Amino acid sequence: MIRLIVWLIVGYLLFRALKSWIRGGARPSGRVSRRAAGEVDDVMVKDPYCQAYFPERNGLPLEIDGQRLLFCSPECRDAYRRQRQAQRR
Ligand SMILES: [Zn+2]
Repeated sequence: MIRLIVWLIVGYLLFRALKSWIRGGARPSGRVSRRAAGEVDDVMVKDPYCQAYFPERNGLPLEIDGQRLLFCSPECRDAYRRQRQAQRR
């Protein structure tokens, strides 16, 4: 009976160790892939006005001459738009 309990405990510990090993093994790559996925989601784009890099999803889009530009802030977007309009004149 004790042997059975010991084997159960050993089996349980092995199962847990295996599980954590699988998780542990998957975790770094999972983190990496999550980070990579995050990077895919959060592509860093450059603000054409202030030259700052920011995640694309945080960007404020502005269409100028068929170009879709992304800005880090409304201030940059408006300033860039004004700059472009000033250049055109
Ligand atoms: Zn900016």
